[in-house]
Amino acid sequence: MTNILVTGGAGYIGSHACKALARAGYVPVTYDNLVTGWQDAVKFGPFERGDLLDRSRLDEVFDKYRPAAVMHFAALSQVGEAMAEPGRYWRNNVTGSLNLIEAAVAAECVDFVFSSTCATYGDHDNVVLDESTLQQPLNAYGASKRAIEEILRDFEHAHGLNHVIFRYFNVAGADPDGEVGEYHRPETHLVPVLLDTIDGNRDALTVFGTDYDTPDGTCIRDYVHVCDLVDAHVLGLEWLEQGKGSRVFNLGTGSGFSVMEVIAQSRSVTNREVPYEIGPRRAGDCTKLVSGSTRAQAELGWKPKRSRLETMVTDAWRWHQTGLYQK
Ligand code: UDP
Repeated sequence: MTNILVTGGAGYIGSHACKALARAGYVPVTYDNLVTGWQDAVKFGPFERGDLLDRSRLDEVFDKYRPAAVMHFAALSQVGEAMAEPGRYWRNNVTGSLNLIEAAVAAECVDFVFSSTCATYGDHDNVVLDESTLQQPLNAYGASKRAIEEILRDFEHAHGLNHVIFRYFNVAGADPDGEVGEYHRPETHLVPVLLDTIDGNRDALTVFGTDYDTPDGTCIRDYVHVCDLVDAHVLGLEWLEQGKGSRVFNLGTGSGFSVMEVIAQSRSVTNREVPYEIGPRRAGDCTKLVSGSTRAQAELGWKPKRSRLETMVTDAWRWHQTGLYQK
């Protein structure tokens, strides 16, 4: 059996990736400090508690499992927080990733799959966002991810580190079997906050700005189902195993939905009213982030299966109703 080191395997996307890896015949070894992850989301392989800033712990885990590849999800990922605490974001995301990359190279583990983000692009009016778009991040989260991409490129040149970089658009939904799902504390992402509000656990959703240059004035995002997203990661791993070399892929569907459209979809899926109020813009938000690339489909053979907005909200609602997200 082939071990894959999954950093952040106790988190939202990482736990879904572990399930997809186990299903594909790999052993996902979770490395997570449990600051934002949850130990009981680690269901599909061994768990090693550790921090990316702890190089000796990383070396110990590489030595114990001799992984064939790394999937690196562990990161702080909230735009608002990144604006307020950039130092934490740079230290955790960039210094932590550098430690991990150096530990991987030292262990001769040179296939690396990295979660990056469309937040590295920043705002580009009327420009199709594909993998060649200039990266001009608006916040420390996007900037930290762009820096890690650059580190990966330098380590490829110097040490032969083969890497697949996935730039995610907005991830939503949950495992349709209900084994894992989204649970952030605090939760800030639109779909889970909406469902929590609909469920009566919050007074109202605040819509962050209605004065953007979009048809209804609210921000537009490209939502992709977490199960489709992690399927792409397994394909990315196979790509590296086949020696196809380093590559960047956007992961989005190419369809954008405004905040108001997501609210309307949630109303229709849950058949309940959505209390919301209009608030000011959130610092660091881009107007519109929609993928203009089909590279992942064309080159990896990626086929999103659950990424219709209705399916994503339905799966997220099913997970929400299990109550497991409330730990
Ligand atoms: N959003 C909002 N109210 C909320 C949370 C999010 O209006 O309580 C908006 C946010 O401004 C953005 C979109 O929903 O336009 C998606 O935000 P999210 O935090 O889910 O993801 P991000 O795009 O920041 O990665």
